[in-house]
Amino acid sequence: MNVILLGPPGAGKGTQAQRLRENYGLMHLSTGDMLRHEIDKQTDLGLSIKEVMSKGGLVDDETVIGMIATVLEGPEARVGIILDGFPRTERQAIALDLMLKKRKVAIDHVIEIKVDDEALVKRISGRYMCKAKNCGASYNDFFKKPAVDGVCDVCGGSEFMRRPDDTEEAVRTRLKKYYHETMPIVPYYLEKGLLREVNGMLGIDKVTEQINALIEG
Ligand code: AMP
Repeated sequence: MNVILLGPPGAGKGTQAQRLRENYGLMHLSTGDMLRHEIDKQTDLGLSIKEVMSKGGLVDDETVIGMIATVLEGPEARVGIILDGFPRTERQAIALDLMLKKRKVAIDHVIEIKVDDEALVKRISGRYMCKAKNCGASYNDFFKKPAVDGVCDVCGGSEFMRRPDDTEEAVRTRLKKYYHETMPIVPYYLEKGLLREVNGMLGIDKVTEQINALIEG
């Protein structure tokens, strides 16, 4: 099974993708995580995309399509994939179809997680993560602080980090990019009869329930 999670930044795609991975044994592919990894490793690619990403702009199509192509060629993707943050443009959507066709597979579900803009800005500009390796538990200034101030509930760590593109200004740019570049791919999947919506304003578990119902329905 191959699933695309669509939705604006902060809609909860990453959280739901992790749950899909756990529940259905699919491979989670997040182009955002892959690109951040390049930045952390300070590769040539990482250095070249650092600025555009921190401002909330999109990385060029060739780069992200190339990254996805490499993963799809490997054996791990055969179990099925959850795409989180890809495709983000019409060109990426078309390239994805071609790549899948070559492997004689196709997208089974495109699930759009709908959330109000103002809620998104609060969710993203308030979010921070535990910095400990292998933890990364997420928190939010407005909705979910650790039980003990400054101590991670999961691993007890005391160092936290924020994404450089989680500032209010970058979030607004990311939202604009979503509406101008990514929303136009919605009709593409509607025409194929693949698109379904879930209400992303509900709690995390409720969103998971809606997604599972669509997949199993
Ligand atoms: P995300 O973690 O999905 O919110 O992505 C963070 C940032 O990575 C985005 O704001 C873009 O700068 C970049 N990015 C991630 N995926 C893509 C993509 N498919 N196309 C272009 N840029 C991307």
